[in-house]
Amino acid sequence: MDEAAIRRALTRIAHEIAEKNKGIEGCVLVGIRTRGIYLARRVAERIKEIEGRPIEVGELDITCYRDDRPQGAQPGAGACELPFPIQNKRIILFDDVLYTGRTIRAALDALMDNGRPQSIQLAVLVDRGHRELPIRPDYVGKNIPTAKQEQIEVKLQEIDASDSVTLLHP
Ligand code: 5GP
Ligand code: MG
Repeated sequence: MDEAAIRRALTRIAHEIAEKNKGIEGCVLVGIRTRGIYLARRVAERIKEIEGRPIEVGELDITCYRDDRPQGAQPGAGACELPFPIQNKRIILFDDVLYTGRTIRAALDALMDNGRPQSIQLAVLVDRGHRELPIRPDYVGKNIPTAKQEQIEVKLQEIDASDSVTLLHP
């Protein structure tokens, strides 16, 4: 995916979010550490253009909720506090790549520790397959079937100086 393809995918996701939720009443976007955060912010900008009003964006660091966290790391000790209450909110969670689903499972744990949202939906830029848990995205930029040894390289302007998604062979 080049810059234009990423832009179109995020614009489409913004429209899909507004359509599925019949507007954005009660909706908040939450980006998962690093690239998920930039994706959430970009989609929030598009939603503002589409709906004519802003939508809140929060950040989640789920390192300490992962079931494969480093030894000694405390469960729930991450910077998982959100700047707004999520009680009864419709949360749209963002990540760059969806793979086994373990990061999202951890994100669900982190969110539930912050309150009881009305619902949680999932948006990812790339779904590369190989799920190990019953988790599926509601919004997908692009499905890219991969071999387990392959990697998806995601570059975003905000930290990588350019926008691209590339399938890397081992
Ligand atoms: P999972 O927890 O679903 O196994 O992996 C998803 C998390 O690991 C995401 O936060 C994502 O950033 C990262 N990840 C997994 N596979 C890839 C990949 O092929 N490319 C990139 N850029 N990130 C990946
Ligand atoms: Mg990640």
